[in-house]
Amino acid sequence: MIYLKNLIGGELIEPSKKQYFDNFEPATGNVYSQIPDSDADDIQLAYQAAEKAFPEWSNTSLDFRFETMMKLVRLIEQNHKKLSEAESMDNGKPIKLAAKVDIPRAAQNFKFFANAITQFASESHNMPGEETINYTVRQPIGVVGCISPWNLPLYLFTWKIAPALAAGNTVIAKPSEVTPYTAYLLSELAIEAGFPKGVLNIVHGLGQKVGDAITRHPGIKAISFTGGTSTGKIISSIAAPMFKKLSLELGGKNPNIIFADANLDNAVRTSVLSSFANQGQICLCGSRIFIERSIYEDFKTSFIAKVNKLKVADPKDPESSLGAVVSKDHFEKVLSYIQLAKEEGGKILSGGNAVQLDGRCENGWFIEPTVIEGLEYNCRVQQEEIFGPVVTLTPFDTEEEALMMANSTEYGLAATIWTENINKAHRVAAKLQSGIVWINCWLVRDLRTPFGGVKNSGVGREGGFEALKFFTESKNICIKY
Ligand code: NDP
Repeated sequence: MIYLKNLIGGELIEPSKKQYFDNFEPATGNVYSQIPDSDADDIQLAYQAAEKAFPEWSNTSLDFRFETMMKLVRLIEQNHKKLSEAESMDNGKPIKLAAKVDIPRAAQNFKFFANAITQFASESHNMPGEETINYTVRQPIGVVGCISPWNLPLYLFTWKIAPALAAGNTVIAKPSEVTPYTAYLLSELAIEAGFPKGVLNIVHGLGQKVGDAITRHPGIKAISFTGGTSTGKIISSIAAPMFKKLSLELGGKNPNIIFADANLDNAVRTSVLSSFANQGQICLCGSRIFIERSIYEDFKTSFIAKVNKLKVADPKDPESSLGAVVSKDHFEKVLSYIQLAKEEGGKILSGGNAVQLDGRCENGWFIEPTVIEGLEYNCRVQQEEIFGPVVTLTPFDTEEEALMMANSTEYGLAATIWTENINKAHRVAAKLQSGIVWINCWLVRDLRTPFGGVKNSGVGREGGFEALKFFTESKNICIKY
């Protein structure tokens, strides 16, 4: 049995109360490690370490920060196999996905922000005729909190930690209790990379204890959170009255709009991915597919044919297209939405059931990729985030109708448009209520671009200089000469 430890003050240590809870492997349903059940005392310890480390870290040269982060990049790359296996085991995702996407992206996040900080500049404003000049400095905030979800564990964890550290802050980070393993392995690598003690602290445990303690701690001045909208509301209700800086990346229910003039092959091929990659557990997945009526049947036939070829299998199987969903609770939640879809009048075109595998995975949490049609755009299944391998197909007649349905949810994270008409593409993109729009592609990411949602999908933007701005405070200095 593996006992995970907290990284506090540069040491791997037990939680203060020496309590642990079970960590499950989704593909087998077995407990394979023990997670520290940390609490506010551990966060206080981490805070003391981070506060002590801040003056020195915030004044290190950019070169030193760059070199330390790049050492961590190389260590992640050297441990690619171990980290990919760990991510797949902890999350249930196919090993080939962890190896191709999650772990390379974790290294890329550190590499990107190690470089970005060397290019980060601030403005000066000359006042003509006033003999006055203003210059703005961007100073690190101090001790910051990073709280991340389970769907892309190391990928999203590092997406927050990297800009926070690059900007000169010291960090207290909490991975999801559901998928803590690669964050633990990152602790070991961070020690090896030579981060000064206390610069990066990783505290494991329950959101309602450890996440809550981070949110409430008066000394932690900024919180970068990715997770569900309801958790985001709780965090902001506590942190906003304390005037903390908040970046909230929340849920999504993203539309994928296929116009009749789309390149159908590309639209179908990519829509299979945008529906079911990572078992549909990506905040950017296009879970509502709207198809122009004249091509509805054609799209449906080719889409279903491709979906039926997807293989739900042991994540260790290199041929697996879908692994297990992340937890028993989540498995039951997704299945309950499939049941609800039937009650709401939906017709299951493909999937719709749990999958019973043989052998080591016989008790795992597997669900067939599920395609449903015949639902009203405003029913619960089409409005609420399911966050699993479930998509709906809905026909539309006009551009206005497609936009109305696409914009009808409380969310506004990402949207996809498929059309060969450039005017239509721009027109629709401008009217979509979402922070990110992909035209004739999906999940193509340039890390310099702003990333985040509107409406209940969040507040603030991550990515590129947006993240470095979030993790710094601007100060304007005005000089009369
Ligand atoms: P949760 O909101 O349940 O949890 C996210 C993180 O917050 C976890 O580390 C969790 O800890 C912690 N947490 C839970 N309760 C509290 C609390 N009261 N105070 C502080 N922290 C708390 O989300 P999930 O992990 O279930 O992730 C899925 C959600 O994340 C989906 O809604 C998805 O759309 C969203 N998401 C958004 C993205 C975006 O960029 N907009 C990207 C990826 C996912 P613990 O796990 O221990 O409970």
